[in-house]
Amino acid sequence: MRQAPARMAHDHPGHEHGQHPPSDMELRVKALESVLVEKGLVDPAALDAIVDHYQHKVGPRNGARVVAKAWSDPAFRARLETDATAAIAELGYTGRQGEHMVALFNTPSLHNMVVCTLCSCYPWPVLGLPPVWYKSAPYRSRAVIDPRGVLAEFGVSLPQGIEVRVWDSTAEVRYLVIPERPAGTERLSEAELAALVTRDGMIGTARL
Ligand code: FE
Repeated sequence: MRQAPARMAHDHPGHEHGQHPPSDMELRVKALESVLVEKGLVDPAALDAIVDHYQHKVGPRNGARVVAKAWSDPAFRARLETDATAAIAELGYTGRQGEHMVALFNTPSLHNMVVCTLCSCYPWPVLGLPPVWYKSAPYRSRAVIDPRGVLAEFGVSLPQGIEVRVWDSTAEVRYLVIPERPAGTERLSEAELAALVTRDGMIGTARL
């Protein structure tokens, strides 16, 4: 693949340019889409529907329901530990980019954080489409080299006693972080618990 060093330097979170030219990848996607539509191989409305589905209908609320159920149903939590794909499918969340799920449980002494160093692998059925920063080169490289530094930029400072474990997604395995249940939530319903769960909490770049 060709390198684009000049552009990479600008490609990091918190430093968005409004007016930069489209990236090589954006141009290639546009070109491919035009050719496919022109040849009648894809219907642009169908493409829009797929993007809309993952952007607005799936989103991270599915993952939040998984987390809330794990907090309130010990049997479900156990199934999530042994076979996350099957446990998540019980809630109806299946499909592409979610075929091999692994749940990572935060504990008082362990914080899990997810990255895809190679590209942008992400568990679509539970979290929807990845945020821009997740796909950025700086996050992908620095999450592994300096996870505490990255967490600090997200406003998370972890006590030294807590181990940070970084998990690199692959084409096969997708991870979902199960944050710890916040204190004082014993009386909340599953729906109320789900409302407390954030997308970044399930990627591991936030604590609840
Ligand atoms: Fe990837």
